[in-house]
Amino acid sequence: MPTVQDTKLTILPTSQTWQQQLAHTINSAQELLNVLAIAPDALPFSAEGLADFPMRVPYAFAKRMEKGNLNDPLLRQVWPDIEEASTPPPGFVLDPLGEANSNPTPGIVHKYQGRVLLIVNGSCAVHCRYCFRRHFPYNDNRLSRQEWQDALEYVRNREDINEVILSGGDPLSSNDARLFELISAIEDIPHVTRLRIHSRLPIVIPARITHALIERLQQSRLHIIMVVHANHAKEIDTEVGDTFVRMRAAGIHVLNQSVLLKGVNDNAQSLIDLSERLFEFGAMPYYLHLLDPVVGAHHFDVSENQATSLITDIQAQLPGFLVPKLVREVDGRPSKTLIPILRNS
Ligand code: SF4
Repeated sequence: MPTVQDTKLTILPTSQTWQQQLAHTINSAQELLNVLAIAPDALPFSAEGLADFPMRVPYAFAKRMEKGNLNDPLLRQVWPDIEEASTPPPGFVLDPLGEANSNPTPGIVHKYQGRVLLIVNGSCAVHCRYCFRRHFPYNDNRLSRQEWQDALEYVRNREDINEVILSGGDPLSSNDARLFELISAIEDIPHVTRLRIHSRLPIVIPARITHALIERLQQSRLHIIMVVHANHAKEIDTEVGDTFVRMRAAGIHVLNQSVLLKGVNDNAQSLIDLSERLFEFGAMPYYLHLLDPVVGAHHFDVSENQATSLITDIQAQLPGFLVPKLVREVDGRPSKTLIPILRNS
C-alpha cells in the first residue's frame, strides 16, 4: 500500500494513460482516507461490505473529492458505510432486477423488446456501493470466443432486435482491439441500427475517451449513443466536460443517467446543478433512477414520495428538457416504469 507521501504524489499526475489509471486504483478504505487527509478513525466502514464488494476508486475520481469532507457526495458513493452490513428492509434482495432470469445465453441480458444488453466484461473502473449488479455472477458471464459467437448469433437470429447495448461491468474497461472487434461484428448484423454504450468511465477516468475511440465510433454505420453515469455536478470537471464536447462534435449522442441517492443528491439544488452542468457541455439528462433494492445499499434509499416532490421542485425551476425522467426498474416489466409526478398546485 502506498505511504501517505506516495499517495499525495500519485494523485497529482494527470498524464497517465487510461490503462495505467485503470490498473492503479485506490483499493482500501485506509488509502482513500489518506488521500483525502481524513483521520483513520473519523469515518467507520463495513469490513463485511468490503469483503462482499471490494473498494475500487480511480485517482482521477478521488481528485474531485473535497479533502477533509466526510460528507463529500463523491466519497459517499464509494464509501462502504457500516450500514451495508445491517439487516436490509423487506424487499431488498441480491438480484433486484431478476437479471439472472433474463440471461438466455452467457453474455446476453434480454429483458426488453427490440434491444439486448451485451455484457462485455464484468469489471468496472469504480465500485459504486449502490450498484444493483454488485452480486451479479460476472464470472459465469466471462465468455470464451465460442460463447461470444453464440451471443452474437442470438442477436443475429432475432430480427426484432435493432439496438445493442454494451454493458457490464463497464464495457469501456475493455481495450480498443477487443471493443472494435465487437463493434465490427455488431455492424455486420443488418437489422441492428443503434449501438448504445453504458459506461461510467467517461466520468471516472475521462482519459478513456481517446481520439482513437471517438474516431472508431464516428466511422460506424450505427447510431451511437453514449449513456454516461454521473450523480452529482462535482463529478463533471472540465476534463470530463471536454469528453462530452468531443463526443458531441463527432455526432455521438451523450445522455446521462443517475441514481437518486440519500446523502449524495437527494435535494433539488444538487439535481438542478447536475442538469445545468451536463447541458453546459452538451450532454442531456436522461433518467433519474430510484434505487434498485439491492442488499447492502438500503442506506441510500430515498422514498418515492420524496423523489416525486424533488422532481416537482426542479420542474418549477428548469426547462422541461433538463428534467430527467424519474424511473424505477421493476423485475418482469417490459420497460422501465415511469413514476408519475405530482402537479404544482
Ligand atoms: S460503474 Fe456502473 S456497473 Fe460498475 S459499479 Fe458503478 S454502477 Fe455498477
